[in-house]
Amino acid sequence: MGEQDKKVISALRPNISAMVAYVPGFQPHDGQKWIKLNTNENPYPPSPKVVAAILHELGPVGDSLRQYPDPPSSAARAAAAKLYGVDESWVMIANGSDEVLNCLIRAFAGEGEELAMIQPSYSYYATLAAIQGVQVRMFNLDKDWQIEGLPERYRGKIFFLTSPNAPLGITFNKATIADLAARCDGILVVDEAYADFADENAIDLVEQFDNVVVSRTLSKSYALAGMRIGLAIARPEVIAALDKIRDHYNLDRLAQAAAVAALEDQVYFRSCIEKICTTRDWFAAALGKLHYSVLPSKGNFIFAIPPDRDGRRIYDGLYARKILVRHFGDGLLAHGLRISIGSREEMESALQAIREIG
Ligand SMILES: *Cc1c(COP(=O)(O)O)cnc(C)c1O
Repeated sequence: MGEQDKKVISALRPNISAMVAYVPGFQPHDGQKWIKLNTNENPYPPSPKVVAAILHELGPVGDSLRQYPDPPSSAARAAAAKLYGVDESWVMIANGSDEVLNCLIRAFAGEGEELAMIQPSYSYYATLAAIQGVQVRMFNLDKDWQIEGLPERYRGKIFFLTSPNAPLGITFNKATIADLAARCDGILVVDEAYADFADENAIDLVEQFDNVVVSRTLSKSYALAGMRIGLAIARPEVIAALDKIRDHYNLDRLAQAAAVAALEDQVYFRSCIEKICTTRDWFAAALGKLHYSVLPSKGNFIFAIPPDRDGRRIYDGLYARKILVRHFGDGLLAHGLRISIGSREEMESALQAIREIG
């Protein structure tokens, strides 16, 4: 390392030098040849109306791209507000729900302060906390999937609750979430990345408790992971704070057009969700017959534990057959696999491969 490099490194904030980068699920470049069940993407294409809206926005020579997009993504906000039954002042549209999480931490948690999350859940919260210099307190789940050791009052700045939980798929019921909201001095962020696949959600708690924020994404349930669209539902004071922090042109023109068309085409959306949930329940039952234990999932994935509790062995066997699933190396999860729900045909191939691996 030259002197100049050393100078640059020592200029970095110490927490950035020390932190480990978030590792996203593997995205193979020869994508067509894999059955990809590792990042909870939707197996179906987005609504045809989304494609039409993007092409319409682009125009024949892309003339619209010369000009900046609408900073607040007003049309998408209006579409989301209508869908979720709230006023537009209660919605922020973000460049993926990851941007919502990022803005929340920057808005509410300062260097040296604390936030909480469930272990296991979405590890990106901890990455964002490390960037901000915020301490993370992990809460485990007990054998009934309830939060273990929750204090009478949680005094940290943010509590991140992923419901349905990823990677487990289990949900926290509304009474549990309400109780948690009441016990938090800071804000409770309910990360509902998978709520569209579940029968319950926490949106009405946003109106009941002034410290609840719900975060959503169009990546999974609307098949738009490649467009980067997420949203927050929260009180207008919280939305106003997030609006100060987000990139002012956080959604490009094509993403804004896509968001509106996707949220408005509920008929197509529901038919996709129904197919995925039916496939999920069939696949979980089929694995059960092979003596896997499968946690009850309300997401578009399942967490499954093979009879010999060797998740890595099954991962390797599937990988050799060009089927990608997610194996988490850490102690808590190494005995199982997270398998995204693809099309019925993809899941039949996965099941056949699992039978062969034995
Ligand atoms: C996928 C996922 C996200 C990120 O969603 P994007 O909108 O694609 O950024 C956030 N939280 C959880 C729990 C997720 O699984």
